[in-house]
Amino acid sequence: MAHTAKKFEEKGKTWTQFPKQCKSCYLCIATCPQKCLSQDEKVLGYYGQPSVKCDIKNCVQCKKCETICPDLAIRVKD
Ligand code: SF4
Ligand code: SF4
Repeated sequence: MAHTAKKFEEKGKTWTQFPKQCKSCYLCIATCPQKCLSQDEKVLGYYGQPSVKCDIKNCVQCKKCETICPDLAIRVKD
């Protein structure tokens, strides 16, 4: 289960998270210029705290979230 991915897709855009690698630091939420990331109460991360979900329609695939995540829990594809 460690690598189970949570995927959000729309119009060729893809944003994927690996919740079991997410330590719920929320640096990704703070850094997203589009404010399209938020806590996901339904899927818990490594410490049992909310992981992160993506409002894909507002994502511009800039990869700032992927770059800042210390735990490699986000994958962004153009
Ligand atoms: S930066 Fe990474 S570890 Fe931190 S909340 Fe976002 S996905 Fe989880
Ligand atoms: S790729 Fe950019 S716009 Fe999309 S969620 Fe990450 S930081 Fe936000």
